[in-house]
Amino acid sequence: MERKSKPLKCPRCGKRACDISEIPKEKIFIEMKCPQCHNIVRIWCNKDSLKTAASYN
Ligand SMILES: [Zn+2]
Repeated sequence: MERKSKPLKCPRCGKRACDISEIPKEKIFIEMKCPQCHNIVRIWCNKDSLKTAASYN
């Protein structure tokens, strides 16, 4: 079973920055202020940016 919302991790701190409902087909990134480390980060919406259950905190 797959969860509906997938957490994206911040490339700076590795913590959960936001959620997406699904990975888009096009390569896009989100530029946002990370709620954890407060840096402006670009997060690519791909599998590499997803936080896995194992590293979930
Ligand atoms: Zn961060």
